[in-house]
Amino acid sequence: MKKTLCYYSLFLLLITVPVSIQAKWFESKQGIMGTNIQVELWSESEVTGEAAIEAIMSEMHRIDQLMSPYKPSSELSKLNAKAAIEPVTVSKELFDLISLAIELSKETQGAFDITFASVGFLYDYREHKKPKQNNINELLPAIDYRHIKLEEGKHSIFFGHENVKIDLGGIAKGHAVDNSIHILQQMGIKYALVTAGGDTRLLGNRLDKPWMVGIRDPRNKNKQAVVLPLADIALSTSGDYERYFEEDGKRYHHILSPKTGKSAFEVQSVSIIGPSSTLNDGLSTAVFVLGVQKGMDLLNRTPGYDGIILDNTRKLHYSNALVE
Ligand code: ADP
Ligand code: MG
Repeated sequence: MKKTLCYYSLFLLLITVPVSIQAKWFESKQGIMGTNIQVELWSESEVTGEAAIEAIMSEMHRIDQLMSPYKPSSELSKLNAKAAIEPVTVSKELFDLISLAIELSKETQGAFDITFASVGFLYDYREHKKPKQNNINELLPAIDYRHIKLEEGKHSIFFGHENVKIDLGGIAKGHAVDNSIHILQQMGIKYALVTAGGDTRLLGNRLDKPWMVGIRDPRNKNKQAVVLPLADIALSTSGDYERYFEEDGKRYHHILSPKTGKSAFEVQSVSIIGPSSTLNDGLSTAVFVLGVQKGMDLLNRTPGYDGIILDNTRKLHYSNALVE
């Protein structure tokens, strides 16, 4: 009897030891979609852990190929090239994301508007290039999400104004992060963090403790303005420091007010916490444009979504549910 027990425990040891030795955190950082991608995940097998990292990075590349405005071969570029001439049939994925972007425009009184690119394409932040006022005036009428005509049955899109261009930069990274989390769930991963630039989503916690997610100080990249303990949720930050240049003491950055075709100036950063990374991404851009008052009004009437705004006097504002 004693011998049997002994063999039994040896057998248990053999099956459990290799598993617990291999269970570990897998991490990777890569530059894709013009931004930093960071993945951390817990896996009990080397093969699954490596495969999961690989799957996420290839998902990021896939979305970049589909939605990059800088790649002439992307589906988005082809749409921009033709949709003002005739309706263009696009993939369901692109159609659905554009439809969601239009819904967000309606919810945000046009603060989030993917047709911002009709003027936005004239800025080059790396080259310190900005459009002249007369060019802005000429193209400003093309900024209006209502110019985008969707035909649901055919997945076709038509632009009802000749100068319309769209850009999904305000929502595509959140979409990529959501897709990545779904891929991880299908692979059986239970604990993970996926970040694309300012967009992060968390699967589970960090084993026995929460994830600590920082909101950086917009004027000091080595400092955190706020650090939040989070689990099973997503957080997106939009800031005026991601892509910008300064000229004559003025900051020209990548979040544009659709009304003016110029950088929104009321706040320095906006962070949104909510279940969908795609919506967080869109909402953080929208609230950035809306500013403190209208932005907080929007968040306080949107169930499940909360936010932290750092305004241009560096004062922090929290939506109601975060301070109750
Ligand atoms: P980041 O890219 O820094 O994470 P955001 O999520 O706020 O920040 O996205 C900013 C991007 O959103 C810009 O680079 C641009 O592509 C796009 N964008 C800028 N202004 C608007 C706007 N008013 N509506 C929708 N998208 C916008
Ligand atoms: Mg955004």
